[in-house]
Amino acid sequence: MKITAVRAIPMSDPVPPERQHRTDLGTKVKNDAVLVMVETDEGLTGIGSSLGSPPVLCGVVEHDLEPVLLGEDPIFSERLYEKMYNGSRWKPALERGHAQPGDGRRGVTMEAIAGVDIAIWDVKAKKLGIPVFQALGAARDSIRGYASGGWAPGDEAEQELGGYAAKGFSAVKMRVVGRDGFSIENTLRRVAAARRGIGPSVELMVDAHGSLDISTAIRLARRLEEFDVDWFEEPISPDDHPGLAEVRRSTTVPIATGEREFTRFDFEDLFLHRAVDIAQPDIARAGGFTEIRRIAAMASAKGIRLAPHAWGSGVLFAASIHMAMAAPNCHILEVSQGYMPMMNELFVEPYDIQDGTVHAPTQPGLGFTLREDALERFKYIPGPEFVF
Ligand SMILES: [Mg+2]
Repeated sequence: MKITAVRAIPMSDPVPPERQHRTDLGTKVKNDAVLVMVETDEGLTGIGSSLGSPPVLCGVVEHDLEPVLLGEDPIFSERLYEKMYNGSRWKPALERGHAQPGDGRRGVTMEAIAGVDIAIWDVKAKKLGIPVFQALGAARDSIRGYASGGWAPGDEAEQELGGYAAKGFSAVKMRVVGRDGFSIENTLRRVAAARRGIGPSVELMVDAHGSLDISTAIRLARRLEEFDVDWFEEPISPDDHPGLAEVRRSTTVPIATGEREFTRFDFEDLFLHRAVDIAQPDIARAGGFTEIRRIAAMASAKGIRLAPHAWGSGVLFAASIHMAMAAPNCHILEVSQGYMPMMNELFVEPYDIQDGTVHAPTQPGLGFTLREDALERFKYIPGPEFVF
């Protein structure tokens, strides 16, 4: 099997005005993603997806990545990842056995590589006639999901989070900064309301999107202990690993982070600083299946669990399901409760989620088929995703 073309298609999913709301990230007016297609001479096509700036991602895929992949066999997925990551020095990198990356080690280049890697694994597993998670080495065929949302202001958090538990989720996540802004007291009020709504036995996690400073994060973490919070996610900027370790040492609440880290090298730095209890690589950013598999193994050696970050597009949720089924140290998977048709209405087949448990797809590859109208419906709209 040989790769004959790699295509990148920008996509957008506008949020209708009545569903738009302001958070610490601004007001989200649309979700963007790039659909990646790896075509082969055997008629099999792999699909992947990238997150990031669509016009830039499409340029990287078409100008930098497609030329190095043409004529290659997708079965050699590790080799193709190394070709993309090491650029012009991929040959000596493989011959000598150490990485020799060029300039595109992070950022949008890695986001493009991740999207292509997902498509390569999809077509590789299709060729093998098995689902991706089985091609990776299956650890399970179902996993506990957690409902990820929780933006409601004040005491309304009780009803919002309680609603997730009522759907059957045994774990739920809320945002530290609600629609009513941030203060430590307000967050505690919302967390107390959420705990009332879900009862004592459902796990509760909180996510600050990296928006706090170190001292505020420590003060909040200590107060969260009485609410039996299962993890405090991205309390501070992802650029400060020593600072995150300081937060972790100051509290008994486990620290989760990783959705904005690139490659195993960023995770190695997090692990060296002893900054994290739960690693959350995003398959669209960390480097696709190939690199997350390495990150999962490194994390397991440190006793760190994996909870993949899953957001943005149906292809990425599907890929995250397969990763969760394949990594032994993955204990839970994010299931978005946000407004996201590009995640939930992209495929012909529905996701198999029952009583908060996510079940593995059974068809070869990622196991999902794009709806006929998907490209027309999610046509790209220029402009930023957030308005602040
Ligand atoms: Mg998060």
